[in-house]
Amino acid sequence: SVPELASPQADWLRIEGVSKRFGSTLVLDQIDLTVRRGEFLCLLGPSGCGKTTLLRVIAGLEAQDGGVVVMGGRDIGILPPAKRDYGIVFQSYALFPNLTVAENVAYALKLPRKERSARVAQLLQMVELDGKQEHYPAQLSGGQQQRVALARALATSPSLLLLDEPLSALDARVRDNLRQELRSLQRRLGITAIMVTHDQEEALAIADTIAVMAHGRIEQVGTPEQIYREPATRFVADFVGCANWLPVHQNEAGLVTAGDMSFGLSLPVGARAATAFCRPEDICVEPHWSAGGSMTMAIVERVDFLGGVRRAVLTLAAERHVELTVDVARNEPGYELLVPGQRVPVSIAPHKVRYFVDGAA
Ligand code: ATP
Repeated sequence: SVPELASPQADWLRIEGVSKRFGSTLVLDQIDLTVRRGEFLCLLGPSGCGKTTLLRVIAGLEAQDGGVVVMGGRDIGILPPAKRDYGIVFQSYALFPNLTVAENVAYALKLPRKERSARVAQLLQMVELDGKQEHYPAQLSGGQQQRVALARALATSPSLLLLDEPLSALDARVRDNLRQELRSLQRRLGITAIMVTHDQEEALAIADTIAVMAHGRIEQVGTPEQIYREPATRFVADFVGCANWLPVHQNEAGLVTAGDMSFGLSLPVGARAATAFCRPEDICVEPHWSAGGSMTMAIVERVDFLGGVRRAVLTLAAERHVELTVDVARNEPGYELLVPGQRVPVSIAPHKVRYFVDGAA
């Protein structure tokens, strides 16, 4: 039997050095990751980066070539999927078409008849599908089918909920609603959840912690705010949210400059050139020009109306090949100036800028 070791809640689930190959392709490259009990973690990354494979390794649906998965102090690598204490939801719902909603939900429940129907009723109420017991999957909308799949995954009260792009097949409104409900249900039940998604907006909205993956590796693990505000690599900066990049240099006085902008600080010792990074809301469109500092002249190329803000693509007047994307809310100065063809002064607060030294990640 497997020894049950005391495990701190902080690393309730530990993935250590997990690798996986398909043929000659290394799909997971020495993955280390820990998940707290009760945490909602998103595995976020582009198509093919290995996130589904990692989820399937945790589920025991795929055998890793190296490394261990430890849950609650036990190495679960030697357990078959059915013994691993998780529920799983797939993008495609994966319901049995010839079983009713109630039968689908009850599928894995080993309970006497009466208790089973009470539990099914409770689960269907939890996902707001009471009254649909006798329906068949084909009689339900996509969102309702996914609720059934969620109820089925939660039926045996597992400690871990695995979600593989569960919302991707749904249209925007249904997706947003179900996202909120999934989140509040997860909180209420205190269940640990790991969700695979390629949708950065979804990950930012739902996760306690995001693990950004690329090419079979984890690029960064952090809260949504950390991932968005303090991306550790250029990849993360570009993949999550909209990124502005400005080539910068260090002048004779040792200060960082980009064109005629000066940011009043220095690069790390030894670095001469770097790329400055900031988000669209970090750039201010100024109603009045004042020379010096981190202000420069830009030209409005395109403007999109995003509801709460105008998002404009600008080019620097002095370096027309450098593009900046800015978001300006209606109550902010400069909003009315965002009209294609307009010349506008823009400034970037130096403390909002992060630097990636050229030649480094
Ligand atoms: P997606 O969102 O497209 O599913 P992903 O990040 O989840 O992407 P994986 O599904 O984990 O990526 O796949 C990672 C790589 O492994 C891909 O190149 C994929 O083609 C390959 N792969 C996945 N499963 C298998 C398999 N059973 N046999 C061979 N190659 C596979």
